[in-house]
Amino acid sequence: MQDHSKHAPKKSGHKSGGGSFHGINADARILKITGWLTGIYFIIELGLGFYSQSIAVISDAFHTFSAVGGILIAFVANRISGKAASVAATYGFKRAEIIGALLNGIFLLLMAVYVLYMGYTRLGKEFELPTNIMFLAAFGGLITEAIAFKLIYQSQKTNMNMKGAYWHIMQTFIGSILIIIAAVVIKLTGYTPIDAILGMAFGLVLFWASYKIIKDALDIFMQTVPGDVDIDKTKAALLDIPGVKSVMHLHAWVLTSNQNIFSAHIQIEDQKNAEDILRKAETLLKDEYGFYFSTLQLELEHRDMGAEDLNIG
Ligand SMILES: [Zn+2]
Repeated sequence: MQDHSKHAPKKSGHKSGGGSFHGINADARILKITGWLTGIYFIIELGLGFYSQSIAVISDAFHTFSAVGGILIAFVANRISGKAASVAATYGFKRAEIIGALLNGIFLLLMAVYVLYMGYTRLGKEFELPTNIMFLAAFGGLITEAIAFKLIYQSQKTNMNMKGAYWHIMQTFIGSILIIIAAVVIKLTGYTPIDAILGMAFGLVLFWASYKIIKDALDIFMQTVPGDVDIDKTKAALLDIPGVKSVMHLHAWVLTSNQNIFSAHIQIEDQKNAEDILRKAETLLKDEYGFYFSTLQLELEHRDMGAEDLNIG
C-alpha cells in the first residue's frame, strides 16, 4: 500500500470515528444538568427583575429563558439523533441535531433583533435603575453560567447542537457582564443610556453568532462539500491508486456533525485487481480523509444514467 499521507494531513483519531469522544449519553447528561441549572436561575432572576422593576434585569432573565429553550431543543435533538437507523430511515435520525441547531440559530437571531430593537427604543430615555438588584442578578448569573460553560465547553467544539446551546449560555454570560458594567457606570456617573448602548453591542454579537449557526446548518441541508474536505485532493489521491483510470460522480456531504459521507464512480483498467483497488480506495477515504462512510462504484466503462448534471468530473 502506498503512502497517501503526503497528499492530505492525517485526521485525528476521534474525528474519523464519528461524533465526539464524549458521545451522545455524556452530551445528554451535560445538557440536563445545564438545563436545570439555568432554568432555576431564570426563575430567580425573573423574580428579582419584577421585584426591582428593572427592565435590564427582566430582559436578561428573558435571555436566560432563551438559553433554557436552546438547551431544551439541544436535549430533544440529541435524544432523537440517537435513534438507530431502520428500513424506514436508513440514515437514522442524525440530522435531528442539525434541525435543532437551525432552530437554535433562528431563535438566537430573533433575540438579537429583539435586543437591538429594545436598545434603540431606549436610547435618549430617562429612567431609574436600582443598581444593587442589578449587581445581585448579574453575579448570580455569572456563577450559573461559569458552571454551565465548564460543563459544555469540550463537546461544543465537535457537536453543532452543543454549539447552539453554548452560544445561548454565552449570550447570558455576556448579558451578566454588561449588567455589571452598566450598573457600575450608572452608580458612578448616573448616565443611564449606557444600559441601552451596551445592550445593542450585545445584540450585534448575538447576530454574528446566529448567522454562523444558521449558515452551517443550511450548508448541511444543501449538502455542500464539508469545510474540511478538498474534493480535488481527494480525487487526485483516488487517481493515484494503480489501476484507476478515471474518477467521476464525486459527492461529498455531511450527514451530521463530524460524519462526512463520500460516493464516486471509479473507472478501472481491468477487472482483475478490482477488489484490491476497492479496498485501497475505502481505506484511503476512511483513514486519510476522515470519511465516516463511502460508497464506491467500480466500473470498466462509465454509463450515462441521466444524472450527468451532477457529474462534476
Ligand atoms: Zn459511472
